[in-house]
Formats: sequence, structure tokens, C-alpha cells
Amino acid sequence: MEKKVRVRFAPSPTGGLHLGGMRTVLYNYLFAKQNKGDFILRIEDTDQSRFVTGAERYIFDCLKWAGLEPDESPIHRGNYGPYRQSERKEIYRKYAEQLVADGFAYYAFDTPEELEKMRQDFKTGKNPSPQYDHELRNKMKNSLTLGEDEVRRFISEEIPYVIRIKMPEKELVSFNDMIRGEIHFDTSLVDDKVLLKADGMPTYHLAVVVDDYLMKITHAFRGEEWLSSAPVHILLWKYLGWKKEMPQWAHLPLILGPNGKLSKRDGAQFGFPVFAMNWNDPKNGEMTEGFKEKGFLPEAFINFLALLGWNDGTEQEIFTKEELIQRFSMERVHSGGAKFDYEKAKWFNHEWIKRKESQDLKPAVRNILVEKSIAEIDDQLLDKVISLVKDRCTLLTDFYDQSVFFFRTPDQYDLTSVQPKWGESKKLFFSEIIRNYELNTDWSATVLETNFKEIAAANKIKPGEVLSTFRIMLVGGKFGPGVFDIAAILGKDNTIQRIKKALTIF
Ligand code: GLU
Repeated sequence: MEKKVRVRFAPSPTGGLHLGGMRTVLYNYLFAKQNKGDFILRIEDTDQSRFVTGAERYIFDCLKWAGLEPDESPIHRGNYGPYRQSERKEIYRKYAEQLVADGFAYYAFDTPEELEKMRQDFKTGKNPSPQYDHELRNKMKNSLTLGEDEVRRFISEEIPYVIRIKMPEKELVSFNDMIRGEIHFDTSLVDDKVLLKADGMPTYHLAVVVDDYLMKITHAFRGEEWLSSAPVHILLWKYLGWKKEMPQWAHLPLILGPNGKLSKRDGAQFGFPVFAMNWNDPKNGEMTEGFKEKGFLPEAFINFLALLGWNDGTEQEIFTKEELIQRFSMERVHSGGAKFDYEKAKWFNHEWIKRKESQDLKPAVRNILVEKSIAEIDDQLLDKVISLVKDRCTLLTDFYDQSVFFFRTPDQYDLTSVQPKWGESKKLFFSEIIRNYELNTDWSATVLETNFKEIAAANKIKPGEVLSTFRIMLVGGKFGPGVFDIAAILGKDNTIQRIKKALTIF
């Protein structure tokens, strides 16, 4: 029987979930759903010094907003918990000890001062940053250099120690990456990574392997920055006797910004978000803007994110989540970096806003208007307004500028556009419009337009000369959808009131 597909996203909760992290989530999710498998969220919080309050909650919120919720996680439960590594602390030691007993790892008693001294003493022009590796471990204080009795004594005297992997002096470690194909590493270039820290906590390297094994992970997708750790992980799978169970790996390409790897700084410099949602850093009070608050629809967000590094081989660009689940394939992910283009991301959002029913946009638009203190929003009016203006909105936040005038009479007018051509004949024209519109029983855009044009013709005024003035009367400026559509939605009383008010100001 085929093994059930189980994939995981394993973030360290250190704050802010950037595009790269969200794309890892997305590819995991798509792969899991396509294969009727499970998507697991595991919190890798073994490094307590990097603990950030609220970061875990924030990750859940981002996944929820994007519609990429896991099947198992610290809050979704499942049969392989706990899903927070800090709560699994007791699990790891036995595996580290087993590695020592089998000769694949060793105790190291070096103090921070001794490690620093090693880095100074062995620094050469050729080797500017010496590492604890197959050469130097023979010169350090560990269970390979000390006698057995001494090691036992150190441990019984509770002298702090770590457990390090004993990297082979020279071995070729290979694996097949689903995106990159066959990859080889020379172990002589890799240092003896710490597996278990002095406080008994595992490091990432040990925890990731033990947990992927115990959680029956079949495929491990992660960012390219973890590629250099792969030889350590592969050896651990082998040394722990689990080689047959090892997941298939895929290392996802970097996301590039205007200056190489996309960074938070790029966002600040070029004015676009890099995080999924607003992130308030509790350490320094700094706020980094997110795609959600910038006005992106989750559908657009996952659509452009999916295409950062992947395509289905056709020209299609707009994909629903269901289509992505069907079409996604890891083999079609490029190994080269994927360039993030904010203008293109906005294009996706615009397309998605256009495609959405106004009904579905209503909650988000209502929130945006309420935030800008528009208190009373009539539900039916909101429906009509959204249908009328949605094609003009690139970001959800654009709905404010595009529709505020339906809810508020303008108090400022683009007078520089009106006044140079303003005069008695135009005043008379609009007075006649008021009279005509007051008697109007059919308040539809077509009738309003016909009447408007007839009155203009009768007064020998070209409609073009008064149309933009009419618009400014209703809206305040030269923007918005068709002016008669606006008047039709505003209704008779409101339209006439606005013309009258403008006549006292122009
Ligand atoms: N904890 C690692 C991170 O923060 C996970 C890497 C992996 O998926 O193996 O990205």
C-alpha cells in the first residue's frame, strides 16, 4: 500500500511570515491536498533565546487568512503531537545518546572561552573562520580525546556538555531533490554540528530529523537556505537507522527582490509589503505592513505566490485554489530564484477583485469604510456601489476613494478644474437640470443622461463642457464611474442637494 502523503511546514516563531515562508506553506498545502494527504504545522521553537511573544499566533492567523489551514498543528490536534518542539524536549535525548553509543556522535565539554580560543588559535589566511570539524575535534575537549573514565567523571560532576555529530572525514553524501535532481556533498567541508545543547534542548538539526521521522513525514519542502544542512540531516537519517523512511526533499528557490534576495528592507525601501499580514514586533514596537492590510485578497495572494517559481506550462495566469491543487507539481518548480514584481502582484489582485461577486467583497469593503469612520452603511447601497466601482479597484483599500462620495457629500471640490470655465450660462444650465430632475419620475441612468443632453442642446452647450462639472458636483473631483450611474445610485434628493450645494460654492 502507498504511504499516505504527509508534509509539514516547520517555522521558527521568530516574527513576521514573509513571502518565502508563505510560498513554502502554499506548496506544502497544494501538494498535500492534491495527494489527499495531511498538511502539518510544526512549531520549531527549540531556540528559546529567539522566542518572540505572539509570533506563533501570528503564523496561525496568516495561514487562516490565506485559506491554507493545516490538518494538524498545536491548535488543530492530530495523532502525532505535541506539535511544538519545546513540548517534545524529553523525546530527543535518547536519540542523541543512541548516536553516541553507536559512534556517530560524541560529548563535547568545551567552554565558550575554549571555543573562542580555538577560533583564534587556528585562524590562518587559508582558514579565516576555523570550525569544530573532523580536523579540529581531535584538539578539543570531547569524548573522542578524553579517556572513558574522565568522560564519566565530567558527566557525573555535571560539567555542561553538548552532543555533536561526528562528520565522516571524507564521504560523498547524495540525495535526489525533487526540484534540483541529484545533489552531492563532500562531508569534509561540513562541521560537527551540535545536536543536543547543554540545556538538554535539541538543536534544529536533531529535532527536524527526529520529528519528521516520528510524524511520518513523506515529503519535506523548505527554502533553499536549508540546502547546506541537508548532508547533516541525511547522515542522521542513516545513522538512526531510518534511511528507508527518509522523506523526499525539495529545496524551494529564493524569492528575489530588486536587490537580490527579497528582504524586509526592500519592502520599506520600495513601499511594498513582504509579510502576509501586519507584524508588530514586540521587541522594538516596529510595524511591518502585510499584504492583507495593504488590501490584497487571499485568492490573489496565493495565485501570485504559486506562480513565483512555478507554472503549469501554459499561458494561464489566473488560478483558483482548486485549480492550483489539481495542476501543481513540484517537478515544474524552477531551481533558479523567482523575481517578485509588486506591480504584477497588484495586477492579480485587480483581476481577482473584478472576478469576485460584490456580495463576497462586502465584508472587507464594509470594514475599510468603517475604519475610515463612515458610520451608517446601507446594505443595499453598498451592494450597488461595489458592483459599480469594483473594476476600478486594484487594492481593497481603493474602495474607499472610489466610493466614499456615495456615503458622504463632498466638502472639498476640485475648483481649479471648474472655475476657469464657470459662468452665468452654466449656472442657468444647472438650475434647469435641477428643475427637470425634480420632476423626473424615472430615476435611471439612461433617462438622466438623455435629459441632461437635451437640456445642454437646448442651451447650445456641448455636453462635454458640463459633464465634468456635474461630476465634480457629485464626487468632488474628476474620478469615479459613469456620472449618471453615480446620480442614479445617489437618488433624486441626494443628487439635487449636491447640485444645489455646489452652486453656492463654485
Ligand atoms: N525551522 C526551520 C525554519 O525556520 C525549518 C526548516 C525545515 O523545514 O526543515 O525555517
